[in-house]
Amino acid sequence: MKRVAVVGGGISGLSAAFYLERLRRAGAQVEYSLFESSPRLGGVIRTERFDDCLIEAGPDSFLTSKPWAADLARDAGIGDQLLPSNDRKRKTYILDRGKLLPMPDGLQMMVPTKAWPIMQTELLSPSTKFKMLGEFVSPPEPLAPDVDESVAAFIRRHFGDEVVTKLADPLLAGIYGGDSNRLSARATLPAMVAREAEHHSLVRAAIKAMRERGSQPSLPLFTSFRTGMQQLVDAVVAGIDQRSVRLNAPVASLIHLTSGWRVATSASVEDFSHVILALPAYASAALLATYPDLAAQLNSIQYTDSITVSLVYRCDKLRRCTELPPGFGFLVPPPEKKKMIACTFVHNKFDSRCGDDHVLLRAFLTRAGGATDAQLIAAVESELASILKIEVPTEFARIYRWPRAMPQYEVGHLEKLAHIEDAAHALPGLRLIGNAYHGLGIPDCVREGKLAAEEVLTG
Ligand SMILES: Cc1cc2nc3c(=O)[nH]c(=O)nc-3n(C[C@H](O)[C@H](O)[C@H](O)COP(=O)(O)OP(=O)(O)OC[C@H]3O[C@@H](n4cnc5c(N)ncnc54)[C@H](O)[C@@H]3O)c2cc1C
Repeated sequence: MKRVAVVGGGISGLSAAFYLERLRRAGAQVEYSLFESSPRLGGVIRTERFDDCLIEAGPDSFLTSKPWAADLARDAGIGDQLLPSNDRKRKTYILDRGKLLPMPDGLQMMVPTKAWPIMQTELLSPSTKFKMLGEFVSPPEPLAPDVDESVAAFIRRHFGDEVVTKLADPLLAGIYGGDSNRLSARATLPAMVAREAEHHSLVRAAIKAMRERGSQPSLPLFTSFRTGMQQLVDAVVAGIDQRSVRLNAPVASLIHLTSGWRVATSASVEDFSHVILALPAYASAALLATYPDLAAQLNSIQYTDSITVSLVYRCDKLRRCTELPPGFGFLVPPPEKKKMIACTFVHNKFDSRCGDDHVLLRAFLTRAGGATDAQLIAAVESELASILKIEVPTEFARIYRWPRAMPQYEVGHLEKLAHIEDAAHALPGLRLIGNAYHGLGIPDCVREGKLAAEEVLTG
């Protein structure tokens, strides 16, 4: 019988426990315990309802193109609850000298696939437009194999500085809460680096990929759930043996035995054959302090904070909901010097989020700078008032702080991962999963959790 301790009840640990339970029900000789330090499961995934409004405290959706989260939803019996984003309303703006300018049509991240919208946009200077379109015929030399560089350097080589400042910085800050000068091109933009190696020109590669897809129906960009992301957590939890779940049970120490692992909380000491650590890298490092090299590598993965501020306005007070721009929201490049880095127009992105007579906006920040909740909400209200010309007060606002929640895949991340994985493999029965390693989106976390469960049984 294999006995598995899954430590961490975010979506990574939940996925591992869920798939262990499925294997157990299918006859595998396995039992498991899921240890979670807080009183609730789900980690940063949490949905709350206030009157008619559905407020996401953490993630609001996942990328549809990565199948593992939707697969988990179907495995958990809620495939019919998947909710596609309203892509016909998809439009993203960039704040440029205080004004919202639409991102040119046809941009794939920062790669243009249509010439006319680039030529027409007010967002970019003529020399940048020339460089972007010219990349098709005169791309830079590709990155040498085994060399990494920052996202900023990678994008600058292809499209110039202005694309870094106006597109790469805000897009990457929106996804990673990070700085494009520090993030690794190989770890955060692996598909683009692969395209560069094959085609040299990112524009040419993107157009070729589009042609190959031909008239296949395009998937919605994002997927959520009818009653919010919490629905995924609830369905997955329902698929786990409740007797295996330990809430309010922070694992305080981990000792490697001759065969297996001793896991201690303040209330229990138990032995397991396998341990799956589904924690932030720094929390795993604390439990693995007796392996100084491994702990040091884990601790070297940097994290940034994330703060979400959701604001609800009543349409009749706004005169008309349609006064706000159409689209999914806007991104704020650093030179704009705002507290918020992005804002989602939630009522446009997904159906049924706040009734027809309200609009729901959600702003993202990465730094509180010592401000209280009330001060941050006031700062966001005032920035939104000036950017969107909103002159009415909010009906209500909610703020959620997620300290050290966003791992930064900095230059050299893949090399660091190789060291971590070598050191972890030297400790039989140990698996490290979670958003610190191979992707921080929900689908990546689910994939890692499922793989860890399968490997426990086959390994
Ligand atoms: C504000 C925000 C917005 C996001 N938006 C999106 C999005 O739209 N789409 C997307 O795909 N991704 C998004 N992400 C990223 C994604 O949500 C996360 O990467 C993912 O949910 C992390 O899951 P996890 O299980 O690895 O970690 P976590 O959710 O951090 O879970 C780790 C768990 O471990 C527990 N724990 C810690 N120490 C111990 C211990 N010693 N013992 C026991 N338990 C412990 C914690 O309490 C926590 O519950 C967002 C993240 C944030 C913060």
